[in-house]
Amino acid sequence: MGEIVGFVCSKCNYEKSYFLGVGFNDLKEKNLYECNNCRALKASRLSKPKCSKCKNSLLIKLYSYERTFNCPKCKSEDFNFEIGGLWD
Ligand SMILES: [Zn+2]
Ligand SMILES: [Zn+2]
Repeated sequence: MGEIVGFVCSKCNYEKSYFLGVGFNDLKEKNLYECNNCRALKASRLSKPKCSKCKNSLLIKLYSYERTFNCPKCKSEDFNFEIGGLWD
């Protein structure tokens, strides 16, 4: 069983959902990370993933989504956690 975490930008309406946790065919847990440098969000199964945008920057694992994030599309800080659910 996994977790769905979805964000919606209140400025440009861009929407993105991440499928986290462990699914039926997955052995490793997938977690959501935020880049320390450019604040990009990334879902990864690696224990120490790196940002795909600024290469060698460290990503920080997210434990709470109850705050605002940077919208990947319009870059405003209006990317909010809106959708939560479960999948398997
Ligand atoms: Zn980055
Ligand atoms: Zn946006």
